[in-house]
Amino acid sequence: MLCTECKQMHGVDFPCGGVSFTMPDKKKYKIIYDRINCIGAGSCVISYPERWVMNNVDDKADLINGTQVSAHTFEVEFSEEELEKFLESAQVCPVNVIHVFEVETGKKLI
Ligand code: SF4
Repeated sequence: MLCTECKQMHGVDFPCGGVSFTMPDKKKYKIIYDRINCIGAGSCVISYPERWVMNNVDDKADLINGTQVSAHTFEVEFSEEELEKFLESAQVCPVNVIHVFEVETGKKLI
């Protein structure tokens, strides 16, 4: 935990007398990718190649570092820094299989 007094990380003890607070989780957003309905257009890869790559076996996009949460659905959580690029990749998908949600509220952004 980060000490508000000395700005150092401590365990359970705070020798400097400061007050702690838990570091906020920076991963505020989540992609849900419905991979089975991908038609392999590749627009997501062009818009954000750091996170999307075409799979040569079935010509569908793979979500880099995504976690498979069901038979055909993949997810990844990410922070504010990637929001614009992930929104762009969702917007350019012609079959709308990429969706972006706020983690805390569950609000669907696209
Ligand atoms: S833009 Fe959509 S349809 Fe095209 S490869 Fe990406 S996920 Fe698949």
